Amino acid sequence: MDAWKDGGLMRAEDVGKVITARGPVEPEQLGAVMMHEHLHSDWAQKAETPFDMAKWPILETYGVWALRELKKHGCHAFVDMTRAPERAAPWVYQKVSELAGFHLICATGFYREIKLGDYWAREPEDQIWPFVRESSVEELEEYCVREVEEGRYGTDLRAGVLKLGASSAELTEAEDKAARAVARAHKRTGVFINTHVQGKGAQKAQLDLLESEGVDPARVVLGHTMGHLVNEWPVTQACMTRGAAFALTNLRMDGPEAQRRAWADGIKRAFDEGLGDRVTLGLDWVFSVGYTELAANPAWRPHQGGSALLVPCTFMPPPPFVYLFTHTIPRFKEMGITEEMLNTMLVENPKRILPVKRP
Ligand SMILES: [Zn+2]
Repeated sequence: MDAWKDGGLMRAEDVGKVITARGPVEPEQLGAVMMHEHLHSDWAQKAETPFDMAKWPILETYGVWALRELKKHGCHAFVDMTRAPERAAPWVYQKVSELAGFHLICATGFYREIKLGDYWAREPEDQIWPFVRESSVEELEEYCVREVEEGRYGTDLRAGVLKLGASSAELTEAEDKAARAVARAHKRTGVFINTHVQGKGAQKAQLDLLESEGVDPARVVLGHTMGHLVNEWPVTQACMTRGAAFALTNLRMDGPEAQRRAWADGIKRAFDEGLGDRVTLGLDWVFSVGYTELAANPAWRPHQGGSALLVPCTFMPPPPFVYLFTHTIPRFKEMGITEEMLNTMLVENPKRILPVKRP
């Protein structure tokens, strides 16, 4: 708070605007917003190396196509939650955004620490970006602030969202450090916080930590929380009542009917209890390198190099991103989710949460 008062680094001209890959825009321009997607996530990238052009065709064709399709559904923006080192080079976001005429809100920040042996974490260096372990809270804070205020690596691609993650209710040392850095960067930049929540109780743990650092819960979206909405309603409800929003993701419709219904009922319950203004939607859809390799060969691990191409992810069905509008939403409507609720979750809530706001 003092940074604002004392003329800190904050760029006052951003207030009320959403920072996108092509610069700050008025929130009214966004229409419906998907709150948690990934244009590009490459687990073979150990560091942010120059973009491998072998990966460009899929983004230029399917990626741009998908974003143009989204616009037909009134969706003109998504929050791209990929952080270093898996994200693409800055120009990729700007070029795709420009070709599609679609807004991308790009993240800075950090992912959760993965348990050794899970997913692709075969060695300690795979568990979390080594930069997080090696840096102090202050260094991580400076990194985030710089990406918001100046742009990524000397380019004009500025971050418009701060990311953090937690694997469980007990934050690891690295997760705790990253979360504090994000909280402090938020207080200096006014950019909203969007999280990845994994295990039970991690939503509350994140919110507790952020609040202890002086963050207003209304500036926080606890994401990847479709299960938390359904299975941990009392905890989730309490976080919503404190002011935090939730982002439900991975809403695939080809699974069990009971699961689809539980998601729809969970959303309706939130609205029934007057908490509809705390719910947002996304898919966590990804063009990736890594998932396919891992599925085919459990011994595969990223950071081995290689020439794997970017492919549509294996954990969300096609079509990319627009699946939310072509598959999820029609089924949700059959299960009683109204147009009014959809407008609240997709348009009104992001319009309130995304713009830069003085802490
Ligand atoms: Zn994600």
